[in-house]
Amino acid sequence: MIRLLIFTLLVVCSLPLHTREPFPIIHLRVRVHLMQSIANPRLQTTLTEKRVRAIFDEVNGIWAQAGIRFELEAVGSLQALDLAPKRWYIKDRDWVKKAIPTDQFSATAIDVCFVNDMGPNGFFYGEPVVVCENPEFHKVSGGADDPVARVMAHELGHVLFLQHRQEHTNLMASGKNGVSLNPQEIKDARKRALEILGQLPQA
Ligand SMILES: [Zn+2]
Repeated sequence: MIRLLIFTLLVVCSLPLHTREPFPIIHLRVRVHLMQSIANPRLQTTLTEKRVRAIFDEVNGIWAQAGIRFELEAVGSLQALDLAPKRWYIKDRDWVKKAIPTDQFSATAIDVCFVNDMGPNGFFYGEPVVVCENPEFHKVSGGADDPVARVMAHELGHVLFLQHRQEHTNLMASGKNGVSLNPQEIKDARKRALEILGQLPQA
């Protein structure tokens, strides 16, 4: 009996955090743009729609702890603008952002662009969210399996107004693959998610 109890406790304790869903789920739509560029190969992603869908399965696994789901409205290619190659004095993120045309952005979803190579792993300072398919990161225990999914989930944290955290296992730590969120972050992210939902026209 005791053995069974210990076994049950072990199973319960080893369940990943994101299998618990104590809240009504908030659904936010995302439109993914796979950046294309012959002039600037750094901007051209090698990711396919299938890979993007697998990334979002993991992103949703991470965000399940907050009861937030990101639904893919569409995944398509987007031709980058032909900018002059980046000069050393220009911030990478500013150059990348300038190369992304906004006329195909969604009115009903959060726009996300994938690029091949970039200084930061990802950034968000007003739409779009931009994610690099080759991020640099340090592994932490219990961290995400797929570093691109972790960067995506982290940037969506910024979309939901979360700030950087020092704690290595936290989703909002920089350059790590941790995925945890604390109760306050969950509360704040859900509040912001509902605000975004209220602002977006319904598809
Ligand atoms: Zn960040």
